[in-house]
Amino acid sequence: MDKNCYLVRVGEVALKGLNKPYFERVLMQRIAKALKKYPDCEVSRVEGILFVRTPNDLPEETVLREVSKVFGVETISPAVETESDLEAICAAAVAFMDRVIETRGVKTFKVEARRSDKNFPIESPEIARRVGAAVLKGCKVLKVDVHEPDVKLFVHVRRDHSYLYDQKISAFGGLPLGTNGKGLVLLSGGIDSPVAAWMMAKRGMVIEAVHFHSYPYTSERAFEKVKDLTRILAGYMGRIRIHSVNLLPIQEEIVANCPEDETTIHVRRFMMKIAEEIAKKNRCQMLITGENIGQVASQTAEALVVTDNAVSLPVMRPLIAMDKTDIIEIAQEIGTFETSIQPFEDCCTVFLPKHPKTKPRLDAILESEAKLDVDALVAAAVASEEITTVNPAE
Ligand code: ATP
Ligand code: MG
Repeated sequence: MDKNCYLVRVGEVALKGLNKPYFERVLMQRIAKALKKYPDCEVSRVEGILFVRTPNDLPEETVLREVSKVFGVETISPAVETESDLEAICAAAVAFMDRVIETRGVKTFKVEARRSDKNFPIESPEIARRVGAAVLKGCKVLKVDVHEPDVKLFVHVRRDHSYLYDQKISAFGGLPLGTNGKGLVLLSGGIDSPVAAWMMAKRGMVIEAVHFHSYPYTSERAFEKVKDLTRILAGYMGRIRIHSVNLLPIQEEIVANCPEDETTIHVRRFMMKIAEEIAKKNRCQMLITGENIGQVASQTAEALVVTDNAVSLPVMRPLIAMDKTDIIEIAQEIGTFETSIQPFEDCCTVFLPKHPKTKPRLDAILESEAKLDVDALVAAAVASEEITTVNPAE
């Protein structure tokens, strides 16, 4: 069966020197996995270029949507494959442009050629000229415009085959998932933490999540929202496990024993400690949060110092210095924003002090924390976790 062909270009993976074959192999596995639900798709690599071949009846949008979600992919081009023979290339170019005219009503074009096979008898500028002449003759409505063409037709002549394409669709770049360890994200239902998880996954990190709730103060529906967000993330990174933990018993202890204006900072330290235990049990090497300096009372420089002090695992805060508008832009691009802004209560809003301390002092916080049996509370919380596995949407 004749198949549709796509050229897939890698970004940073290409810079990996001796490790390049490993990164490419993982990337190919990830692309194959993204297309697994569609039968008869193939991923291959020939002389440094990745190819995806799919059955003709699989729509192009579907392939582009799935492959562009694979981290490590820089651009994708739907391409036509032809024999590396000038006559065949010219005929394919005319057919290609006929289709472009039909679907997009273009009027001008330009051809750019590249010859990887130096044994091919004609040099690149001459290939471009001859293919251009064939298109002019074959597609009467088209004119050449070398400065601002409606369509740029790329011709890549290789030893085995040649490829024609006119689009380079941008994907997200990054590194293939699974090439950079595993992290545990503290996932709220907000805008920031899903973006933080996505950014770490884009650098190759496998993600697990922990979510804190204060049931029955927070509703089942609030957790549904977290699952919805996780499902969107799973579209990029495959199945994700959420560890959910009821923080209410700890919040009640804090409220009963510590100064009111310190509530938030104590809650945050407990979240970190519980997350650290869950991370260790699940071989996650680091914690990830959506914290962002200055955003709220619990994210001032002083508050971050006190929160950070609660754990010894490294805490990744990929959004730390970003502006909210830029975070929102990413949330919109990756599709989490609309879900994140649905109004549901969060455990942090339960027992929210009227005037939270914005400049907590570590010694003072440690002193009030000493009134609590921290280890026992953390152990009980970890023991009570519930695990939900979330798969990507079908
Ligand atoms: P977000 O948009 O991610 O909710 P935020 O601006 O609301 O962030 P905070 O509520 O102070 O900020 O939370 C800071 C970080 O702490 C979050 O990005 C997230 O990593 C973690 N966090 C907050 N609430 C929860 C929760 N209920 N469960 C798990 N992690 C949480
Ligand atoms: Mg929040």
